Parts: sequence; C-alpha cells; structure tokens
Amino acid sequence: MTDCIFCKIAKKETATHLLYEDELVVAFDDLHAKAPIHTLIIPKLHIETINNIIPQQESLVGHLFTVASILASTLNIAENGYRVVMNCNQHGGQAVYHIHLHLLGGKQLSWPPGC
Ligand code: AMP
Ligand code: ZN
Repeated sequence: MTDCIFCKIAKKETATHLLYEDELVVAFDDLHAKAPIHTLIIPKLHIETINNIIPQQESLVGHLFTVASILASTLNIAENGYRVVMNCNQHGGQAVYHIHLHLLGGKQLSWPPGC
C-alpha cells in the first residue's frame, strides 16, 4: 500500500525511530501519546483491520502480543502493568487502516476506556 503511513514507517521511508524490529513487525512511539508509554506495534504486512485477518495470519497477529510483552519488559512497565488495545473501524476509533497494537503504560490507566 503506497499511501499507507504505517507501511512507509515499516519500510523505513520516514524518519520515525523504530524501538523494535524483526522480520515480521516494527514498533515505534505513537505521535500523540495518551500515556507516558504509548508504543505502536505493527506487522510489516499491510492488513487493514481486524476484520481482514485470515487464519494463516494468526501466528503473525499473535507475534504482535509477544513483542508487546518484550517491549513492556524493556520499557520497565511489565511489573506494574499495562494495556494493549487494537481498535477496529469507525465505532472502535480506528484512524489508521493498517492494524496496530497500542501498548499503553507508565501510569494508572482508567477503565473502561472511552465508553
Ligand atoms: P487508531 O486510532 O487505533 O487507528 O490509532 C492510530 C494511532 O496512530 C494514533 O494514536 C495516532 O496518534 C498514531 N499515528 C498516526 N500517524 C502516526 C505516525 N506517523 N507516527 C506515529 N504514530 C502515528
Ligand atoms: Zn499499511
């Protein structure tokens, strides 16, 4: 997807600093952080929404959670706790149509979020 900002970030076509990269995913800080730690973990593969995930991509999607856990440890929020969120479509508040896991932490988060 040539006009997808997250594809561009994954291909290192922007100045975005990557906090993590492996063959399947990259992670970087959210531009408009909603918490002291707010990192986005995205697959390098362009998948528009949760609704577009196919069974063959289950391990890729699971890997996003593995990387969230690795980053939570690296960023020292694992013990206190954190939240991972993936928004879907308009009612879910999705703004960028390339799936991404939000990793939020570094403070006491309220619940429920934005209902
Ligand atoms: P969502 O509403 O779940 O689609 O979240 C999209 C997130 O991407 C928002 O929190 C934005 O602040 C963030 N975002 C959009 N563009 C960029 C960018 N170029 N670099 C980092 N974060 C971005
Ligand atoms: Zn994309």
